[in-house]
Amino acid sequence: MLEEILRRIREVQHFPDGPIPLHAPVFAGNEKKYVIDAIESTFVSSVGEYVTRFEEMLCSLTGARHAVACCNGTSALEMSLRLAGVRSGDVVLTQPLSFVATANAIVHAGAEPVFLDIERNTLGLSPSAVRDFLQAQCVRGQGVCRLADTGQRVAACVPMHSFGLPVRMDELLAICGEWNVPVVEDAAEALGSSYKGRYCGTMGQLGVLSFNGNKTVTTGGGGAILTNNDELATTAKHLTTTGKIPHPWEYRHDTVAWNFRLPNLNAALGCAQLEQIENFIETKRKRAAAYAEIFNGTGWEFVMEPEYCRSNYWLCAVLTNSVVEKKTFIEKANASGLGTRPAWEPLHTLPIYQNCRCGELSTTIDIASRLVNLPSGVVRNF
Ligand SMILES: *Cc1c(COP(=O)(O)O)cnc(C)c1O
Repeated sequence: MLEEILRRIREVQHFPDGPIPLHAPVFAGNEKKYVIDAIESTFVSSVGEYVTRFEEMLCSLTGARHAVACCNGTSALEMSLRLAGVRSGDVVLTQPLSFVATANAIVHAGAEPVFLDIERNTLGLSPSAVRDFLQAQCVRGQGVCRLADTGQRVAACVPMHSFGLPVRMDELLAICGEWNVPVVEDAAEALGSSYKGRYCGTMGQLGVLSFNGNKTVTTGGGGAILTNNDELATTAKHLTTTGKIPHPWEYRHDTVAWNFRLPNLNAALGCAQLEQIENFIETKRKRAAAYAEIFNGTGWEFVMEPEYCRSNYWLCAVLTNSVVEKKTFIEKANASGLGTRPAWEPLHTLPIYQNCRCGELSTTIDIASRLVNLPSGVVRNF
């Protein structure tokens, strides 16, 4: 059965032999033209027309009122948490099934992550796990949510749209709203995914995108903060641009700030990539449908987009039935040149995060033991 699955995965990409990576960028549009143009303009750093154009394109794609381009997704997330009010000594609720950057950004903002379980059908933060945790371990007073035992502030909640599959945001926003906990979406993997017609990254107080080389759209390295709040957007620009008071020649800074903006050179690449995003997502969605066919009747479950959602299918995923099946599949697939990999080690099991507070995590542990990511790049000959 395994050989047959591997053969059909290749067949889907029209690539009979040779290596197929898990994900690789495709530069088939205006990338070279725009990057050369940026070089020739001499504006290669954080000021330039492509940065502005890239931000405008992100706004028109997602419907966000503001986009602030940053040097990577991790720094965009750290900055968003600070803007949401996270301070030293606070805790931030998130899921353990994520890339390590989610928890790292929380720590860089001075807080500690609290890991709560994911849901079976979205693979993202479970609204009921958040509700149960708030009810069992937190108290509310004067509009502030705190841990009942230590008194630490619960300063934010960070759902992550795993592999591009949207979290159940309505339920999550309602619960967090009741407890006055701001929501910052880690939409690093979910550019172009939507939930009930709203784009990932635009539903929380702030949302974060990543444009790393393995994401749906790349700027080489890059990220963005999305928000509909004018004041937060202004502060985001100020704090990511060294806190410099705008002036043609004077260098005055009114706060200890960061150098987190996206260089124009990278934004040029990003503009050319964003011009192709509809194509990229269509290709990914078609391939997901083809993968679903392959796994139909095999006893393994291809992970489909949840109800009311349109996923970008950044990374396709299949659930095997056991750790052994997962390992065998990944070994055989990689040996035959098909880039496959397990989910991230759940963050609460990493030595750096093993002492963090956790909820009940049975779904995370189960999913991480069985999940395999499949080749998901936009192969040119798809
Ligand atoms: C890619 C990613 C990030 C940010 O990554 P950068 O490499 O810093 O751009 C953050 N969170 C998740 C879940 C990611 O997949």
